[in-house]
Amino acid sequence: MENPATQAAPVQVDLKETSAWRNAWTKFPFLAFCWASVAIAGIIEGVIYYLVHPRLLQIHPWLDSTVGIVFLLFYGILVGGLLLITITSLTGIDLLYPHGRRSITVRLLFPIAIVIGQLFRVNRNRLRTSFVKVNNSLTIAQSHRIKGDRILVLLPHCLQIDICNRKITNDINNCLRCGKCAVGGLVELGDKYGLHIEVVNGGTLARRRVSTFKPNGIIAVACERDLTLGIQDVHPVPVYGVINDRPNGPCLNTCVDMTLVEEAVRFFRKKTDQ
Ligand code: SF4
Repeated sequence: MENPATQAAPVQVDLKETSAWRNAWTKFPFLAFCWASVAIAGIIEGVIYYLVHPRLLQIHPWLDSTVGIVFLLFYGILVGGLLLITITSLTGIDLLYPHGRRSITVRLLFPIAIVIGQLFRVNRNRLRTSFVKVNNSLTIAQSHRIKGDRILVLLPHCLQIDICNRKITNDINNCLRCGKCAVGGLVELGDKYGLHIEVVNGGTLARRRVSTFKPNGIIAVACERDLTLGIQDVHPVPVYGVINDRPNGPCLNTCVDMTLVEEAVRFFRKKTDQ
């Protein structure tokens, strides 16, 4: 019997239709809603200070001044952080200060941006797509900070076709590369570029793989929701996100545009080859 591994043929998926709307969206929706969130945060802060100001003055003028300065500082951090993110994302010039924790700006503003987006009836996934684009542009802009060549590729389990019973979450090499789903092509890509690939079936396993492997950079393939959460979870590890395509609906026999994955691989490899 012929070895399935020798029959490997790349999966050809017509992605034009599924990707058309995605390509029409850029980073602007996320940035615009973040700036709207900053404006709303400013109004809320102003109202709170307006309400407590007379009481603070009664207690002590110093207390009033201190609270006022803290409010201003907090707002300054939000505006400054978002300004740096916006300029870096749009120009590709890295103006972000190095830090080892999750970005307070993105962590605070993103949930508000999603809520405002919903008020304006903007589809959640479209806003998340925009977030991923902004994130990718920041990753590219900060490329000089990526040291080392430990690149982890995280793939969602739903890329594996449902009729395949190979245990690829234990070890990606259990894939026979038969060409029935996108996993085979991705394994070959991993061999070509020397990448460490893991297939995960959820955020918990993904986090575990990241903490075990300790990558210098991550290429993550997932749906908009998982990518958005994952990118924020693993910060400050740079992530290049690729959104999967779901012609059969969510979490079933999904696929991915291989050219986008290869683009991400080339980005990290170009970095580490320098
Ligand atoms: S995971 Fe996909 S490519 Fe790999 S053996 Fe199963 S069906 Fe074939």
